[in-house]
Parts: sequence; structure tokens; C-alpha cells
Amino acid sequence: MECLFCKFISGEIKPEKVFENETVLGFKDIYPQAKEHYLFISKTHTENINNLTSSHGEQLTEVYSAIKDFTESNDLSTDGFRIVTNMGKNGGQTVFHTHFHVLGGEAMGRFGS
Ligand code: AMP
Ligand code: ZN
Repeated sequence: MECLFCKFISGEIKPEKVFENETVLGFKDIYPQAKEHYLFISKTHTENINNLTSSHGEQLTEVYSAIKDFTESNDLSTDGFRIVTNMGKNGGQTVFHTHFHVLGGEAMGRFGS
């Protein structure tokens, strides 16, 4: 198995988990880009958001619902947070298992490089 995040799911490598249920894993990003920076993934491997089809609707809802539960129970949702998904080379994607960055704990700047 080549995928880093699939190794997190199988337990072969242990990330700093912040959330887990049957279908979703959330963990701290190793190079935080905000005071709080987490990654949320579905336990079912897909490469990136452009590999999703209508059959993955439930998978997406599960991830977003996990983010909602996590941010509500960790006081991130009061002041808000940002979700980012990078797709492909120009998007800056480096790990090819669909993932959602959750950034918060401070006000985010505007977009741009
Ligand atoms: P992206 O660049 O959007 O594909 O996001 C991949 C993210 O994975 C980056 O923000 C990395 O900092 C993060 N990352 C890479 N290796 C690890 C790791 N071992 N544990 C936690 N996060 C990681
Ligand atoms: Zn994977």
C-alpha cells in the first residue's frame, strides 16, 4: 500500500488523531499553516475531489458531518474556520488521498499565494 493516509487508516503509521468514527479520520497536520490545522479524510481511498462521482455523495457528507461534530465540540465553530481542498499540481496537492484541511483558531487572511 503506497498511500500515506491509507497507512494512517490501517494503523501502520500513527498520526496525531483528533477524530475517528467508522468512516472518517481526522488528525493534526504535521506542518500547521494556522494555530489549528487538521486534516479530515474518508476511510475509503479516492485520489482527489475530481475522482469523486455522484456515488461518493455519502462519503462527502460523512466527512463534512465529522468536521461539523469536531469543530462544534472543540470550540472552533464559534469563531469559524476554513476548509481547503487542494486538487492536482497547480492546486498544490501533495498527498493523493482526498483530504480536507480545516484551519482555524485565528482569523484567516484572504486567498492568494
Ligand atoms: P496537500 O498538500 O493539500 O496534499 O496536503 C497534504 C498535507 O499533509 C500537508 O499539509 C502536509 O503538511 C500533511 N502531511 C504530510 N505528511 C504528514 C504526516 N505524516 N502527518 C500529518 N500530516 C502530514
Ligand atoms: Zn489512500
